[in-house]
Parts: sequence; C-alpha cells; structure tokens
Amino acid sequence: MHELSLAQALLDQVVRHMPPPGGISGVSAPGSAGGSGSRPAPQSHGVNEPRASANGASLSNDQVILRKVVVRAGPAQAIEPQAMQMAWQASIAGTPYAQAQLELRVEPWRLICTSCGKEWTSEDPLELCTCGQPATPKGDAELTLLSMEVDVPGE
Ligand SMILES: [Zn+2]
Repeated sequence: MHELSLAQALLDQVVRHMPPPGGISGVSAPGSAGGSGSRPAPQSHGVNEPRASANGASLSNDQVILRKVVVRAGPAQAIEPQAMQMAWQASIAGTPYAQAQLELRVEPWRLICTSCGKEWTSEDPLELCTCGQPATPKGDAELTLLSMEVDVPGE
C-alpha cells in the first residue's frame, strides 16, 4: 500500500519537527529579554512554537501533544485520501502522536490544452478541453508538511 509508506515517511518528518520531550527549555522564548540578535528557529512557518515556561519550573508533563498535521500532496502522488487517513491512523497508533489528526490537501492537476492553449485545473488529468482536444497535465508528486499544531502542557 503506497499510502502506508507515505504516512510513515510523514510521521518521521513530524517527529523530527517536534521538540524533544523534556528539551523544551532549550527553545528560546520569543521576545525574551536581551539577545536582540537571537531569533527562533527559522522553520516556524505555521508551526506553533512551544515556549519555555517563564518561571523556569520543570513541566509537569514533558510530552508535547501533537494535535494536527497539515499536508499538501501533489496530484502526481496519486494519493487516495481515505487510504491515506487509514495509513496515518495505522502509523500513529501506539505512538505519542496517536491523537493527531491528518489534514490532507490534494492539489488538482493543471491542464493546458495542446490545441487552443486554454488552462484550467481538474482532478482528472485526462480531461478534454472544451474545444475537444486533449490537454497536457502538469503537477508534481510531492508530499509537503505545511504545518503542525501542538499543545505544550503547563501553559
Ligand atoms: Zn482547447
């Protein structure tokens, strides 16, 4: 099953983006005093950065909870959304991320008519142009992690 290996690769990627358990104090809090030159990690697009607790007390539960993962898939990846959801559930079962939801955004094909040059998007790469001529489908096969929603305990 194609989706299962994708889901497992996705989970690997998610795990690498998660703050390590108990290692949250290593992440610098935004707007912390001093160090005007220091910035948070650059890969924070859409990701809720966990913040270190202000008083420096150890967290009661050192496990960051992953709520949701948003993923974009190119049309040439040919993902079956339902199969991908099942594969994701199978991959996260028994892991600390077992409650995480997967939001899959499958991009449509971009079709360009070989005859009249019209461009449109469709889920069907073999769709004919309104002029009756076949079109050239364009689309990538990438699976991209767009964002993650995490809950940091003790906030
Ligand atoms: Zn056409």
